[in-house]
Amino acid sequence: MQTQLNNILKQKGFLQLTRENEQSIEKQPPITTTKNTSIQLLDTGVLLVEPSDYNGTDLVISSGVHGNETAPIEIVDKLVEKIINEKLTVSSRVLFIIGNPVAMNQSQRFDVENMNRLFNGKHQDKDHHEAKRAERLEHYVSEFYNTRASSGSVSGTDSVTRLHYDLHTAIRPSKYKKFAIYPFPDGKPWDKSQLEFFLSSDINTILLGHQPAGTFSYFTSHQFNAHGFTVELGKVKPFGENDPQDFTHITRNLERLIEGKPVDTKTFDNQDFNLFQVKHELLKQSESFKLNISQDVENFTSFEQGYQLTDDADGGYQVEATGEAIVFPNENVPVGQRAGLVVVKTRL
Ligand SMILES: [Zn+2]
Repeated sequence: MQTQLNNILKQKGFLQLTRENEQSIEKQPPITTTKNTSIQLLDTGVLLVEPSDYNGTDLVISSGVHGNETAPIEIVDKLVEKIINEKLTVSSRVLFIIGNPVAMNQSQRFDVENMNRLFNGKHQDKDHHEAKRAERLEHYVSEFYNTRASSGSVSGTDSVTRLHYDLHTAIRPSKYKKFAIYPFPDGKPWDKSQLEFFLSSDINTILLGHQPAGTFSYFTSHQFNAHGFTVELGKVKPFGENDPQDFTHITRNLERLIEGKPVDTKTFDNQDFNLFQVKHELLKQSESFKLNISQDVENFTSFEQGYQLTDDADGGYQVEATGEAIVFPNENVPVGQRAGLVVVKTRL
């Protein structure tokens, strides 16, 4: 059985193996490449890669936390394929994740509950599979960041760089096609070198997080001091309909991180970016809540001062200053939950 699963991984790939085992997989013995890179399935959709010559970077690349966001899953699948086929020389430790295989097999964003609200312990006291899966993913990530490479110490330094890119695609189109969400940094300064990495990855729109959250990327940045980010790479499409050309830059830069090669960056300059901060959270206060925008309005669409953006039992939200924009509008959330964010441009 064990050899079989590793054979499926090698022959059919990480995505297909995950598809065929949506609930779980027992931890498998590692496969070792001719370059002594160890590749080990820890669970379904969770794959640990450890090089023989470790450069001190611990990199988590996650996808499919929302099951229907297929482009990131395909990116992860291709990176794993290149590693298995020894087309990439691995220098970083890498944990690859396909987050929600059950929802993926249903072509759904989620089965019971949005998993990207369930991290950082918010899965506690919940019994459904997304809560259990979030808990397991937290466990694997904790082990990953807390374990030093078995293959030896980092040459010349004790410091380890922890990175986490949680790759997504968005439900609706965006005025800025790709953007990253920088989780609330808990008082730490915003790291401009990370923003330089995004610019080099063809992502120049950044939304700065304003408070703790149940997202996967806030979990890694808060708990492990990782540079963790939610990365939105465009619009949701079914498997097979994504154009790899749309993801050339981010894929190339992830490959460079895996290989330990430098990423071409340019010194941070506000002018190169659209930086947004959150001004207001649109909380759905009652069943009479209504968003006064059309179904297909793009993320980051801005409004004139005085525009009645929402109606609700408490009077709703009226735009206070021209230029306020909306992100992640979604009326169909339970009362008490966030139905969108009002954001404004900022500088660092
Ligand atoms: Zn998503």
